[in-house]
Amino acid sequence: MKLLTYPNPILSQKCSDVEEGDPEACSILEEMSKKLYEWEGAGLAAPQIGILKKIVVIDVREEPQRLYKLINPKIVQKSEEMVESREGCLSLPLLREVVLRSQSVTVEYLDEKFIKRTIQATGFLSFCLQHELDHLDGVLYIDRLSRLKKSSAIRKFKKLQNDNLRHE
Ligand SMILES: [Zn+2]
Repeated sequence: MKLLTYPNPILSQKCSDVEEGDPEACSILEEMSKKLYEWEGAGLAAPQIGILKKIVVIDVREEPQRLYKLINPKIVQKSEEMVESREGCLSLPLLREVVLRSQSVTVEYLDEKFIKRTIQATGFLSFCLQHELDHLDGVLYIDRLSRLKKSSAIRKFKKLQNDNLRHE
């Protein structure tokens, strides 16, 4: 299982629904959970490891600590109030940018036993859900920036990567 980074074209593709009862979904969730901690992310979406299915894992390391395993998640409600969220992404290493997100969201999903569940989240967990669910639509957080800010973020990202390679 390899982490795909920008500009891999798979990251811009839309994911398809997991079929209910698909046994593969459980093993993908297990593997993604391990990678989430290994790579020290707050969230990981299946396309980031090259799987175009609607599967996400999230652990924002807040108390009480909780690992969310989400199959076919969708936002069913979001607050109109938009707030600034400073984000990073495992697929855009080292870069951090401020994007606007809804303050709170309600997400419906299936858990690893295909039981329907709902999360109501606010603050960091809400931002993280929006970020990971965007991945399932082929949207990266830099796509949420204005055109000008996005191209400057990409320039910054490329420079960070080059500087990093030089130091390795
Ligand atoms: Zn991401």
